[in-house]
Amino acid sequence: MAKVELKGIGKVYDGNVRAVDNANITVEDREFVVFVGPSGCGKSTTLRMIAGLEDITEGELYIDGELMNDVPPKDRNIAMVFQNYALYPHMTVYDNMAFGLKIRKVDKAEIERRVREAARILDIEKLLDRKPKALSGGQRQRVAVGRAIVRNPKVFLFDEPLSNLDAKLRVQMRAEISDLHHRLNATMIYVTHDQVEAMTMGDKIVVMKDGKIQQIGSPLYLYNHPINKFVAGFIGSPPMNFLTVKIVEKGGKLVADEGSFEVSPTEEQAKALKAYIGKEVFFGIRPEDLTYTTTPVASNNMQMKISVIEPLGAETHLFLTTKTQSCVARCSPDNKYTIGETVNFTPFMEKGKFFDKDTELSICETPTTE
Ligand code: ADP
Repeated sequence: MAKVELKGIGKVYDGNVRAVDNANITVEDREFVVFVGPSGCGKSTTLRMIAGLEDITEGELYIDGELMNDVPPKDRNIAMVFQNYALYPHMTVYDNMAFGLKIRKVDKAEIERRVREAARILDIEKLLDRKPKALSGGQRQRVAVGRAIVRNPKVFLFDEPLSNLDAKLRVQMRAEISDLHHRLNATMIYVTHDQVEAMTMGDKIVVMKDGKIQQIGSPLYLYNHPINKFVAGFIGSPPMNFLTVKIVEKGGKLVADEGSFEVSPTEEQAKALKAYIGKEVFFGIRPEDLTYTTTPVASNNMQMKISVIEPLGAETHLFLTTKTQSCVARCSPDNKYTIGETVNFTPFMEKGKFFDKDTELSICETPTTE
């Protein structure tokens, strides 16, 4: 069992730098939770407080119900995998993996058993006699993970472990860590700035910005029900489009008027948008929720000009411009597109979002944070 609870956790560094503010997170036993956000949002600091590598300024940290604030790192039964692997260059792979157990005075035969078992799980048995410099980036990463596995910790912490690998290897290691999570049945907390890693690996994602948690939820929940414009724009690639529109009443109905096109909110959206008549809001629509059409319906049509065409094979991304704004659509590669051409798109309004221009909060629904 290993449940991790952060209650009102905050961190202020020397010099009055507030890195984390009132973080409330529950990581359930065996859950894979990803902390994601742009650089400097406080995710590493949060992880390091869990590991005990940083003092906790405010709040309480519990592991399996036990208060951990003042427990030294070595007694927290946690293993951390770092971005730079932190391997000892003069030691063999075997010794690197065994080191943590040796200093804990684990019996030699037990060390041998655990190192061999971890090496088998990670498929690095043939590398045990090598030194780190004779390993590829991916192999070093596996050794760093192996060093965590042998400790048999309650919780694994990963701090951007894949950011030094090339794109292809990153995809492979991503799948390996997910697979490892299932095989070890362990509680894992993983920090990354990469929303694709967060989406593909996390059971639960914690989105952070400026030291504050924005929203917590499963990948698809966050994708479909972002609480604010930041989460909506951060999760998903290419990101959600945001167009400034004015809410106006027309023929007894509400429409969102961009100046060069109009779209019709659903009945439910219209109800919430009543309070915004005459005001500007952000209309959010994902690139895949824009459908190319040759038979536009005036009340729900976005007429735009193609400025860039990106053929990716399975799909084509079109960069489009209205009179003053721009957006991206994910389209079928089977149609013919020409730069400069004026085209029509039907937005799938059920998936469309509206955000308050000042608070940037979602207007038409109140998504939960967990
Ligand atoms: P992230 O992991 O999301 O990139 P960090 O947790 O590393 O963010 O940093 C959060 C904030 O705290 C940043 O503004 C960073 O500059 C600041 N910070 C990090 N470490 C220290 C430190 N040792 N002393 C002072 N400020 C720090």
